[in-house]
Parts: sequence; structure tokens; C-alpha cells
Amino acid sequence: MPKLQMDWLRAQGKRIYSGESTAHGLVQWLNANPGKRGERLSRLLRILRDLRVLEQESRSDTWDYRDLLLQFAEVISDYHLTPKLVVLPAEEMWQIKWTPVRRNATKRPGRRKRFEEGDGLMALIDLGKSGLATRVRQCRHCNKWFYARVEHGRFCRRECQQEYFRHSEEFKLTRREYMRRYRNLQRTRHVK
Ligand SMILES: [Zn+2]
Repeated sequence: MPKLQMDWLRAQGKRIYSGESTAHGLVQWLNANPGKRGERLSRLLRILRDLRVLEQESRSDTWDYRDLLLQFAEVISDYHLTPKLVVLPAEEMWQIKWTPVRRNATKRPGRRKRFEEGDGLMALIDLGKSGLATRVRQCRHCNKWFYARVEHGRFCRRECQQEYFRHSEEFKLTRREYMRRYRNLQRTRHVK
């Protein structure tokens, strides 16, 4: 987004979250393709997540880390993309869209192009270049993909966060009750 536009939006009190617009299509596509079609991209994202975990645990020099990097390299090298010309203006920026090589691709001129896996990959790479790829995550509560506006974001929406903590509170309560009963039982056994 151009700086002027960003300053204007800021002045209007609108919050701009870096990477969010780039991630938008990718997140929607991942949620619409939970099965085999979305497998490659979600795998890349899961490997990234695991890499980040190891980094946080200062385990970047381990074989596990190397192994994950190799897995990432393997999955990403599986893509075959071909450049597709969008516009070629004189003395201005070319617009080239990288699209996946498809078998039986039928061209329908005038038809609006759908968001596809290749677009998702390009979005992921763009995010990665800005250090924002791991912001595309799965919600801890509902498992949906979302873009975390802040580094510590774990839920796709506030309701999911509330539900998650309500459930974990309930879990803690039932566990506490269970442990209380268990200890009582042990005590009575020992008395006998
Ligand atoms: Zn959620």
C-alpha cells in the first residue's frame, strides 16, 4: 500500500495490519480446501510453524530443524509455475502472474480468474519475504485458518478465544474435582 494512502487511513483512525490483505485470499482458499487440494500449502505452513517453535526453543542447530528445512524445500520444489502476462506497459512495472501448470487447462477469455493454489503460494512467498508467513495460522479453537494481526494471536476471532478459555476452565474444574475424589478414595483405602 502506498505510504500516502496508509497515512491517510491512519489519520482516519483505521488500523492497517501489515500483510493482512496479502494473506486474505490465501486464508480463504485454505479454508475452502481443507482436503487434498489444500494439502501442499497447509503442509508448508505447518512446517513453518514447527520451525518457529524450534527457533523459540533455541534449537535451530539441531537435526530436527535441518530435517524440517529439507521437508519445506522438498514440498515447495514440487510446484510448477508458469508466468502469465497480465499487462506490459511501457516504462512502467510489468504485471506478471505466476500460475500453476495445469493439465487440461481450458482458457475462457473474459472470465474472471479464480484464486488458485499458485496464487496462494505467491501470497505465502510475499508474506515470507516480509517475515509474516507464520502469521497464517490455524485457530486453536475451531481449526480454521486465519491471519494473526499480532504475533501472539492464536484465535481467528474473539468468540473462539472466549470459548477456548471457557472450555479449558471447565476442564480444569472437572480435573480438580476428579483429583479431589481420587485423593479421598486413596485416603479411605489407606485407613482400611
Ligand atoms: Zn476460530
